[in-house]
Amino acid sequence: MRRWATLVLAAATASAFAAGGKQTGTLDSAIEALGADHVTSIEYSGSGKWYQFGQEPSPTLPPPEFNVSSYIATIDYLRASSRVQMASKQTVDPTRLRFPPHESRAEEYVVGDVSWTIGRPGGPATGLPVTTVPDPKNVEARAMEIWATPQGFLRAAAANHATSTPTNDGGSEVTFMLGKHKYVGKINAQNEVQKMHTWIDNPVLGDMLCEASFRGYRDFGGVMFPSEITRTQGGKLRLDLTISSVKVNPEVMIPVPEGMRAAMTAPVTATADKLAEGVYWIRGGQWHSVAIDQADHIVVVDAPLDEARSLAVIAKVKETIPNKPIRYLINTHAHFDHAGGLRTYVDEGATIVTLPMNQAFYERAWRAPHTLNPDRLARSKKTPKFEPVLNGKHVLTDGQRAIEIYEQVGTGHNDAIVMVYLPKEKLLIQVDAWNTEAVTAPYLDTIGGDFVNPYMVNLYENILRLKLDVSQIVPLHGPRTATVAELRKALLLE
Ligand SMILES: [Zn+2]
Repeated sequence: MRRWATLVLAAATASAFAAGGKQTGTLDSAIEALGADHVTSIEYSGSGKWYQFGQEPSPTLPPPEFNVSSYIATIDYLRASSRVQMASKQTVDPTRLRFPPHESRAEEYVVGDVSWTIGRPGGPATGLPVTTVPDPKNVEARAMEIWATPQGFLRAAAANHATSTPTNDGGSEVTFMLGKHKYVGKINAQNEVQKMHTWIDNPVLGDMLCEASFRGYRDFGGVMFPSEITRTQGGKLRLDLTISSVKVNPEVMIPVPEGMRAAMTAPVTATADKLAEGVYWIRGGQWHSVAIDQADHIVVVDAPLDEARSLAVIAKVKETIPNKPIRYLINTHAHFDHAGGLRTYVDEGATIVTLPMNQAFYERAWRAPHTLNPDRLARSKKTPKFEPVLNGKHVLTDGQRAIEIYEQVGTGHNDAIVMVYLPKEKLLIQVDAWNTEAVTAPYLDTIGGDFVNPYMVNLYENILRLKLDVSQIVPLHGPRTATVAELRKALLLE
């Protein structure tokens, strides 16, 4: 037994030395082989697939897939800054699309701890004008992507006192801390960074595993770089690229646009607009909630984004409706921009009302540790309480006001989504079906023709199916409420 182990060890050690007697498969040999010590900036380009993480049509389906015709990442390792320019077009089942697929372009930036995006607000295909938008919630992910490149990983390892453990295939496992983030990478016997992983914070998934794998290294004009890069996030595919060209040490100057630095730490704000007696539209940027004043408690509809937004909304709700507890939070669907704030309401003592499929997802996802950015629930460790929406309808009532929650059936947007109807006030609260920023007009710029958004058609079909008498449609994205007559007009029915 011992003899066998010694032989295996001897074989492994032998293979870790190249012909010249120099040790291979180590951090130092990889730095030398990939030129990491003199690569201070890099630009790699390619094409492939990109996946819209957090926008899965249901918690059990993969994220929407996009064909990427051009992906250019320009990275300055010295200033920890990067720009990613991507041209993409959605490839999923056309019945799920809000718009006919068309190519869109976006640019993602990070400079130190400042991040912004140049593109169309609300997603690649909204048809809204291209703008520069601060993106504080993506600082961590974009910084991670700088070090999730082979040369970046090696430079960060060398600068952060990495420890190495030999692996039995003649390579080594390299581990280091970059701030609060632990990075682990595998160097193979050919002195290539084969894969790496780290964890970043996600409001839904907690400490979220992010992995990158690098395959098919070849000489790109003087530097060894992988010809295939795959990234995953939370166990799901994020990016799959075939690299076509690499530039070493390009000039990278990324000026931070005015206002972006201040926007990173700007306080989250929420405003309250009265929609009806005891019903308030709690708005912030493009993400809204609705608060309903019941006899001895409050019901809130939707918990968008993250804990910071939830805390701002809860403060505004308590100021608007004093001295009552928030007893229920109605969750519309599990897209991450509508689920990221839920945990704060669990900590607040609210019962989460949602469809069973979403409940199962949250119960599973919320067990993950939240050590990178501990939220209130991670500290209080309260057990989440749920009330499922069964058989397409659920009613909350205080004896005076009924709040009817309906499954929105047949929308391509999401397989487990609800809308909320207040029969006395004739208010219909809906999300992601009609953002009311415009009717069809702005989409015509990018799409052309008499295009009608099928999500809006589906909303109208659900109103008819349920025979709802609606005086105002209240969007959880969008600038204004609207009437059913306006919806019919937008659908070219009037
Ligand atoms: Zn959605």
